[in-house]
Amino acid sequence: MCGDLRAEDAGKTATLAGWVNRRRDHGSLIFIDLRDRSGITQVVFNPQLNEAAHAAAEDLRAEWVIQISGEVVKRREGAENPELPTGDIELVATSLTVLNPSLTPPFEVRDDIDVDYATRLEYRYLDLRRPRMYSRLALRHKVVKLMRDYLDEKGFLEIETPILTRSTPEGARDYLVPSRIHPGQFYALPQSPQQLKQLLMVSGVDRYFQIARCFRDEDLRADRQPEHTQLDLEMSFVEQEDVLNLIEDLYIYVTERALPDVEIEKPFPRLTYAEALERFATDKPDLRFGLEMATLTEIVRDSGFGVFKTVADSGGVIRGFSAPGCAGYARKEVDEITSIVTSAGAHGLITIAISKDASSIRNISPENVRSVIKSHVELDTVRKICTATGAAPGDMVMMIAGPEGVVNTALSILRNHLGRRLDLIDTNQVSYLFVVDFPLFEWDEDESKWAAMHHVFSSPRPGDEEKIDSDPGAVIGQLYDLVCNGIELGSGSIRITNRQLQERVFELIGHSRADVAERFGHLLRAFEYGAPPHGGAGLGVDRLMMALTGDDGIGDVIAFPKTQQAVDPLFDAPAPVEPDQLEELHIAIVQRPSE
Ligand code: ASP
Repeated sequence: MCGDLRAEDAGKTATLAGWVNRRRDHGSLIFIDLRDRSGITQVVFNPQLNEAAHAAAEDLRAEWVIQISGEVVKRREGAENPELPTGDIELVATSLTVLNPSLTPPFEVRDDIDVDYATRLEYRYLDLRRPRMYSRLALRHKVVKLMRDYLDEKGFLEIETPILTRSTPEGARDYLVPSRIHPGQFYALPQSPQQLKQLLMVSGVDRYFQIARCFRDEDLRADRQPEHTQLDLEMSFVEQEDVLNLIEDLYIYVTERALPDVEIEKPFPRLTYAEALERFATDKPDLRFGLEMATLTEIVRDSGFGVFKTVADSGGVIRGFSAPGCAGYARKEVDEITSIVTSAGAHGLITIAISKDASSIRNISPENVRSVIKSHVELDTVRKICTATGAAPGDMVMMIAGPEGVVNTALSILRNHLGRRLDLIDTNQVSYLFVVDFPLFEWDEDESKWAAMHHVFSSPRPGDEEKIDSDPGAVIGQLYDLVCNGIELGSGSIRITNRQLQERVFELIGHSRADVAERFGHLLRAFEYGAPPHGGAGLGVDRLMMALTGDDGIGDVIAFPKTQQAVDPLFDAPAPVEPDQLEELHIAIVQRPSE
C-alpha cells in the first residue's frame, strides 16, 4: 500500500497502485505523490533510468489511477519529509501503467478544502478519497465492530427486523411505502425497531441488539438525517440499573479501544432530569466544562428593575451564570453574545461586569460594576447575584429573564458557546453521562394534550402508576438518556409489559380505543402471552461518531448523507418516477393550488 514503505525497505523493488495526488516537474525529474487509503508515497521518474516511463509520467494529472513498479530508495539527507510516514524513502519508477485517467476533479482531493456541501455530496466518491473522510469511515467501522464484539461476548443476538413494516411511533412523521399488491395500503419504514425488539423479548430471545437503520421524516438539522443508525438493544429480566451498567461498560469498552488516547470520566455521572436542567439548563449538558446555572428569580424579583418584576410575577424565571474573565468584554462582544440568545428565542441578555479592580465581591463599589441594571438595583442585589452565580472580580454575569423553557434553551446554547469561546473544553476528554428520572409525559402546547416524553412504551416508576390519571405531569418514568460531550446519543427505558397499563397510557395521550386496537393490537395481545419484564435503549451511532470525531454535524461520519433539504445530490434523489410505476401503485399525483 502507498502508506507502507519505510527506510528499512530501501533496496527492495515494489509495486504500488493508487491515485495521482500531485505531480511536480523539477527540471528533468518528475515527482508524483501516489495516494491510496493508507497514505502517500513519493515516486520519482528519471529519464536517464527509464525514458518511456518518464515520458508517460508527463501526461499524468491529478486523480489518474496508475500502477508503478520501481526500486525503494532512501531519500538523500535533507530531502526527507517528516510529515509523511513514508517520508524517508521514495520509489524510483522503472515502469508506469495508467489504469484509468481522470477528468479534472471539481475540487482537489485534500483535507483542507472549502467546497460547497452539495458539491461534495454530488462527487462524494472524490470527497471520500480525502484522508479525513477515510479515517472517519475506518473509525466508524471499528466502533461498530467493537460494539458487536462486546455484545456477542455478553450473550446478545444480533437480529434483523423488517424495514417494510407498520408505523412504530417515535414522535416523527413516517416514511411510507405504497403497496402494489394491496391498492391504497402502505408500509411504514420503522422510526425504530421498538415494537419488534419488545416482541423479541416476548419471544424469549432475552438479549437482542441490532445496528438498526431508523427513518424519521422531520425537519433536518446538523445532527439529524432522514435515516440514522442506532445501536438498538433490549434485555429481559432487568431493571433500569442493569441496563445502565451494561451501557456504561459497553461504551467504555468501545471508546477506550477505538480512541486509546482519550480520557473518559468513569463511572459515568448520573444526573436526574431536574438536576440537569437546574445546573446546566439542558438535559444534555456537556460536562467537560463548568459554567453552572443559578436561579435568580427570588433575588431579583423586587430588586427595582422592572423587567425582573414583570417576568417573575407572570410565572417566568430569571436565571444566569458567571462567565469567568469576561468583565472586559466590549460592547461589540456583548452584542454578539446577545444575538445568540435572541436567535434562541430570548428577549435579550442582561449582563453585569465586575471589574477585576474590585478586591472581592463583598467589597465591590459602584465603580466596579458595569450593567444596565446598575442604576435600578441596590449594590447588595448585585452582590447576591454574584454570590449565587459564583462570579468573582473580572467576571461577567449573564442573565436571561422569561418563560422557563425559553430561558433554559437560550442559556444552554450560550453556555455551549462560551465553553468553546473561552476554550474551556478539553477536547481530549470524552464525557459520558446518564440523565435519569425523566417525566413520563409532557404537555403539548400546540395540540393541548399530553404526549409521551420518550415514547408510549416506557413504563412509569413503580408507585407512580396511579398518577397517570390524577397528575400525569408528576409521573416519573423509568427513562434514561445517554449523553456524550453535550450530544444526546439516545434514550431507553424499562417497558410497559401489562396490557391494561399500556392501554391507559395510550388513552392519556389521546389514542382512541379503536385506534389502539387497530394499530397496536398485536403488541397488546403479546403482553397477554407471558411477556417478561424488559428494557433497553436505542443509541445513535452517527451521533456517537460525531462526538468522538469532534465534528459539528453527522454529515461527515455517514458515507452517503443527505443535505439539510433531505436531498441526495449524487443520485439526485428524491426524483419523479415513471407514470406507469405510479399507476401500478394506484397512486395519482395531485398538485395543490399553492404548489
Ligand atoms: N426506540 C427508542 C428510540 O429510538 C429507543 C428505546 O427506547 O430503546 O429512541
